[in-house]
Amino acid sequence: MYTLANMQDSIKKVEATRAQRMATEPRRMTADEKDALLAAYHPDYKEEGFITLKVGPNKGEKVPTELGYLLESNSRILGVDIDLDKVDYDVDVLVIGGGGAGSSCAIEANKAGANVMIVTKLRIGDANTMMAEGGIQAADKENDSPAQHYLDAFGGGHFAARPELLRKLVMEAPDAISWLENLGVMFDKDENGRMVTTHGGGTSRKRMHACRDYSGAEIMRTLRDEVINRGIPVIEFSSAVELIKDDKGQVAGAVLQNMETGEYQIAKAKTVIIATGGAGRLHYNNFPTSNHYGATADGLILGYRAGAPLLYQDTIQYHPTGAAYPAQIFGALVTEKVRSLGAMLVNVDGEAFMHPLETRDVSAASIIRECSDDRNEGVETPQGKAVWLDTPMIELIHGEGTIEKRIPAMFRMFMQYGIDMRKEPILVYPTLHYQNGGLEINGEGFTNTVSNLLVAGEAVGGIHGRNRLMGNSLLDVIVFGRDAGKAAAGASGQPGQMLPHRGAWNERGRGTPLH
Ligand SMILES: Cc1cc2nc3c(=O)[nH]c(=O)nc-3n(C[C@H](O)[C@H](O)[C@H](O)COP(=O)(O)OP(=O)(O)OC[C@H]3O[C@@H](n4cnc5c(N)ncnc54)[C@H](O)[C@@H]3O)c2cc1C
Repeated sequence: MYTLANMQDSIKKVEATRAQRMATEPRRMTADEKDALLAAYHPDYKEEGFITLKVGPNKGEKVPTELGYLLESNSRILGVDIDLDKVDYDVDVLVIGGGGAGSSCAIEANKAGANVMIVTKLRIGDANTMMAEGGIQAADKENDSPAQHYLDAFGGGHFAARPELLRKLVMEAPDAISWLENLGVMFDKDENGRMVTTHGGGTSRKRMHACRDYSGAEIMRTLRDEVINRGIPVIEFSSAVELIKDDKGQVAGAVLQNMETGEYQIAKAKTVIIATGGAGRLHYNNFPTSNHYGATADGLILGYRAGAPLLYQDTIQYHPTGAAYPAQIFGALVTEKVRSLGAMLVNVDGEAFMHPLETRDVSAASIIRECSDDRNEGVETPQGKAVWLDTPMIELIHGEGTIEKRIPAMFRMFMQYGIDMRKEPILVYPTLHYQNGGLEINGEGFTNTVSNLLVAGEAVGGIHGRNRLMGNSLLDVIVFGRDAGKAAAGASGQPGQMLPHRGAWNERGRGTPLH
């Protein structure tokens, strides 16, 4: 329910232009227009939000100010007396982070025979994975192919993705979907039992697989069950605060801190996987965020301080459609699926100012421009300015009942505040959503510079280049999570699924394994 007069006036204009807008498809921007738009309005291009690093592997490069301060800060355990001989946990594989990537790592490491343990800041599943809404990409329909998926993601990421990582992502995507389905994920299917797939921003084919708009919750539920069923130990409410290295400079475990008592503990491990997720709660550039409270870039800081370089740490994804009204849900995600289903972005005068399926960075910059003083076409809200997402279009296109059936979480979120998105549009503004950059890895998930250290999930940089497409993150969490678990188990000397060259090496009984 919109009680403010300016909003009601603007809604009348949105309603008045709806029929005409539905009959015409807005023009897509040219590459040059997009470049100019991004340079002028996207926060990644604003110098004032960044500092230059003075120490560490990325010395001389720019990072968001808040991240830079943490990367260069003193250690939390500086001056704390910690006895490394008093080992609290001794495992083969230590997984830091109990989200989708960490759980996938742990499941596969356990399958490979490793003694694996998860340590996580809050509870297992208190994670961005749980909050994912829209879906997960995989080219598994007749009119699609991994090559097509690659082209979409490579272009969407500004041609900056590491080719070997992106290739692996798209090639293993269909198998990742089968893996999830076999574990028990209930994907949306049609009456013939075929997966329902839709478009996302920047996709040339309908390859988004979803579980209504609870995709992440359904995936996380399934992974968490599997972790529990396998009896994998999970240390909850404990944060890794520093990595430990042995006398050869190899990672050999982590210092943990109990979040309730403040007590420090030592976890010794043959391999460590960082799966700590994103950084939204650092609120770069004072933006609101869609992220959960544990998303504070911990893994980037742990890895960097141990000597692992970051990649594309200066590129942040501002999701174009964060809820802008009412204040209680300011910054919460409005899934891109709402636009995939046909809702258009419309300014205060009821004009569609962009094609609804531009990539996220272009869409976010477009909304910021509309709300800027240059255009002054935003709707005034108590938190600033916003644009409309014309949700009543969805049921005009797909029929009555579509919103409750396909995006029930969105429907409920707005209904709590008396806004019926079937009948009224909703107000949106970009929200800090995803870190495109992270720690650099090789194709097996290891960092290139720090032995025994692997990274998986949102803490990795390079898979998506400088902008991630919707649905490719849940995918990388599974693809790279599973493989990091197998590789870590292999490197810990487990007999299960080793890296091929390690298996051969060990069979010949030739000393220290390689990785
Ligand atoms: C609202 C929302 C909607 C999204 N929708 C989609 C979507 O539809 N499709 C898509 O592909 N992607 C989506 N994403 C992105 C995607 O969900 C995430 O990028 C991905 O799930 C991250 O998985 P992860 O395992 O790397 O991190 P997370 O799932 O965030 O897990 C990280 C875990 O590490 C823990 N942790 C952090 N620091 C420490 C520490 N120091 N010690 C111990 N534990 C620590 C955290 O508490 C958390 O449990 C969405 C993200 C959000 C926020």
